[in-house]
Amino acid sequence: MLIANWKMNGTGAMVEKWIEGINLSIPDDIQTKCVFCPPVCFLAHASHLIKKKDLKISLGAQDIDPNSEASLTGGISGSMLKELGCQYVIIGHSERRNHYKEGDSLLLKKILSAASENLKIIFCIGESLEEKEAGETESVLKQQLEIASRAANSTILVAYEPVWAIGTGQSAEPTYIGEVLNNIREQLKSLEIKELLGVIYGGSVKIDSAKSILSLDSVDGLLLGGAALKENEFSHIALNSTIN
Ligand code: PEP
Repeated sequence: MLIANWKMNGTGAMVEKWIEGINLSIPDDIQTKCVFCPPVCFLAHASHLIKKKDLKISLGAQDIDPNSEASLTGGISGSMLKELGCQYVIIGHSERRNHYKEGDSLLLKKILSAASENLKIIFCIGESLEEKEAGETESVLKQQLEIASRAANSTILVAYEPVWAIGTGQSAEPTYIGEVLNNIREQLKSLEIKELLGVIYGGSVKIDSAKSILSLDSVDGLLLGGAALKENEFSHIALNSTIN
């Protein structure tokens, strides 16, 4: 899978350009492996264009509100995301864990809420630089993964995103990624997840680094931030790599 996470970037015009670019350059069989996650304000527009052009990419939200009550100013629930055309939702991104102080109990509620709407969950995990240097990567990831396994009926794509690699221009080395993803796969064997869609990597991946990371057996795909903003960069990565 190839996930395009636009974060808080873009305009309606950029969404149109991006979708048209994907339409012209990426064949259907590869489009089915791509998920577009623009800011929530562009989801309806993106959904309309995807349908109109009969694209095979999926649409994902960058966040979900775990509550279903109506009295929550600013909240956007799973059912609303479904109505906007989303099949996926990102949960646990380090930017939300850090800036919005989203902790395990809130993340679990978000997972349960997404699962109850049959939204596929892109669950982000990753260690900070301090945790890496203290040799705590394995235990940190284990604890983060356990949250995902507490929702019995969820469909999850695990995205390993070391915090020190996101948006820094400093991607993890393929050997390191391979070791950590193998470890994640080992840990997942003892956890109960209804459906595991795969394990992917994210963190400053660019055209130059994408191919070698995707050539690793343990990597099923990529979560792209900066490299997903321009449709030609995203298409180049999609067309020149093997994605599961
Ligand atoms: C991300 O937002 O999850 C991400 C991987 O961003 P970037 O590719 O820009 O590091």
